[in-house]
Amino acid sequence: MSDLLVLVSGEAARRMKEGGQWGQITFRVSDPDNVGAVIAVSDGSNPVMPTPLHSTNHFLNAGHARGQHRWYRAAPELHLLWWHARNTGREVALEVFKEKVAGRWLSPSAGRNYVALTVATEAPAEYPDISIPEMVAWYVTPDAACPVAIDVVSAEHGFPQLAGHWPTTHLAESSIMLVGAGSIGGAAAHALASYGVGRLVLIDPDRLLSHNVVRHVSSAKHVGRLKVDAVKQELAEAWPATRVDTLPVDAIAAAHLIRPRLRHVDVVLCTADGVAARRVISHLARRARTDAVLACALQDGAIGEIIRLRPWSDHGCLTCHREALTARGAMDPEPALDLGYGTGTTHRPMTAVGGDLHLVAQVAAKTAVATVLERRGHPDQKLPGEHAILGLRPALGWAPPFDLNRSGDIRWLPHSPPHPGCPTCEEP
Ligand SMILES: [Zn+2]
Repeated sequence: MSDLLVLVSGEAARRMKEGGQWGQITFRVSDPDNVGAVIAVSDGSNPVMPTPLHSTNHFLNAGHARGQHRWYRAAPELHLLWWHARNTGREVALEVFKEKVAGRWLSPSAGRNYVALTVATEAPAEYPDISIPEMVAWYVTPDAACPVAIDVVSAEHGFPQLAGHWPTTHLAESSIMLVGAGSIGGAAAHALASYGVGRLVLIDPDRLLSHNVVRHVSSAKHVGRLKVDAVKQELAEAWPATRVDTLPVDAIAAAHLIRPRLRHVDVVLCTADGVAARRVISHLARRARTDAVLACALQDGAIGEIIRLRPWSDHGCLTCHREALTARGAMDPEPALDLGYGTGTTHRPMTAVGGDLHLVAQVAAKTAVATVLERRGHPDQKLPGEHAILGLRPALGWAPPFDLNRSGDIRWLPHSPPHPGCPTCEEP
């Protein structure tokens, strides 16, 4: 069996640090997992007060509650002994342990062993060369105190941990509209949240059906739900710092609902796989002067494609870019998109696998985030071009620029200029 682990929430840790000399602790325990979490703490002989677990759906919420445990204020050298004992696989004699803790001593007896947490807020400063924690855990028996692994939720838990290494503030202030919450869109939502994007607007009218599950980030437990609701709930659990708004509408039929919202987002990422939806987003984004990123898989999952459209006078829209490419001899893959992934027929079997679609989503999310960050003054987020082609299962014989040789290749192309007379690119 793995070693016992004790979990301490930020609230429980604060109560003990700010408390007096000792107190009682109630744990919620899972014996099969050999894990216990502090769920209630007292200050001395005052009543035991509940301290919530890490998250409301934490697995230990279904565990057994066990009281009669203790926390003690301790001398910093006890934590040095904990550190030595942990690293050498030893124990600390009970007499030594008892001498170094304050408060009302609870004597262990045969069959009444207990878990003790000790608090020595001066310990980290006392031993600056080795990181001695201010809170440690012990399993106390009539003979000895055995050091136990502990995980304390720090005050800067979550994205604040990355501050200084990643522009968390700039991204927390950003908002991205995601059109399409399918295989690519669902994975893109998770990726955007993992970058720290503060707000997402999810737009998709579809429900998650059983045949979607093999490629979608949402699991079978969500079958029957709107995809936007399934993704929203998963993000709430995995990435609570991201606020998610949902709009379960069709991008084409409800363009009048999307248009005003586009002015309040930094980027729109379109993962809808129909040609019409992509063209509508290209058009609306340009009119709203919002950057757009379009992501899809082409040729039955052979290649992934990400196109970034800037609302700038020398950059063309989706249609202009495709026209420029076909004028140079490239295939126009847009019409094939209308066959729709997930509705493959025997004539044109659905071959894209979830992992490849999620890879496209990841690069698309990176493109959207880089767009936000470059504008916020982060030159390290400048992209090599405006159109990325990813080899997923490339085949021989395609005309440039789709003539990738290898799976994993990423080719970046520049933008194309607006086509004279384009109804999207020419200002009305
Ligand atoms: Zn155009």
